[in-house]
Amino acid sequence: MELTDTHAHLDAFPSPQELQGAIERAKQANVTRIITCSAKKGDWALYSQIAAARKGEVFWQLGVHPTEIGEETPESVRADAEKYLRSQTPPVSIGEIGLDFYRFEGSAQEFEEMKSRQEKMFLAQLEIAKEANLPVCVHARSAVEEAIEIIDFSGADWNKIVFHCFSGNLQELEKINSRGGRASFTGIITYKNAELMRSAMLKQGLEKIMFETDCPYLAPAPNRGKQNEPSYIPFIAQKAAELFGISLEEIAEVSSKNAREFFGI
Ligand SMILES: [Zn+2]
Repeated sequence: MELTDTHAHLDAFPSPQELQGAIERAKQANVTRIITCSAKKGDWALYSQIAAARKGEVFWQLGVHPTEIGEETPESVRADAEKYLRSQTPPVSIGEIGLDFYRFEGSAQEFEEMKSRQEKMFLAQLEIAKEANLPVCVHARSAVEEAIEIIDFSGADWNKIVFHCFSGNLQELEKINSRGGRASFTGIITYKNAELMRSAMLKQGLEKIMFETDCPYLAPAPNRGKQNEPSYIPFIAQKAAELFGISLEEIAEVSSKNAREFFGI
């Protein structure tokens, strides 16, 4: 049995020993592939090095998260992205990129400025993905509708779009799925109060299912509250298998096949 963690933040394991431990524990739990996801430009060198040292086991995504834009401009991101895209170990995806309007505490004018900055950066990174023909890992928090609009506007291939750690409603899921896009699911599906996410996962079906830890956050039950790590993927997959009424082996096979096809790994 083989499982894939399609979205992990491996900078949560800062020392080589911690990283080695997390990857070993993942292997023992049959999580044979890990896709580590960037939040900021500062992650890129580290993640490309880890992926180079662990070919076939760790793959990486290049991107700037909407709340990590800081001083970056679309031009500064593009210039650096191009270097990595031409490197020996290029990213397998652009991510995580998108929009995050959750609990913004500034004035209305500051909100508009933040929104505009995020939208420009999202669009610029969608362009990079399109040119490099790479899939895209979308982070959309309190902004699923807005993210859908920008992806439509960008002309990106919806078949290459995943809304990671999906947090929208069923109507939004329908919009994503009807365009050819998909949502992916985390340990949240194991939480008691997450009936909506379980329904979303079942509604989308097995055809596009992929799992992610989004570690170090969102550890699945029974480890909720602990630091999450790739070796916890089986708890998520087991819960999903029960909900779909199939075996863990079957869901491992279909979800890993989907991940391999989607990310081209
Ligand atoms: Zn993430």
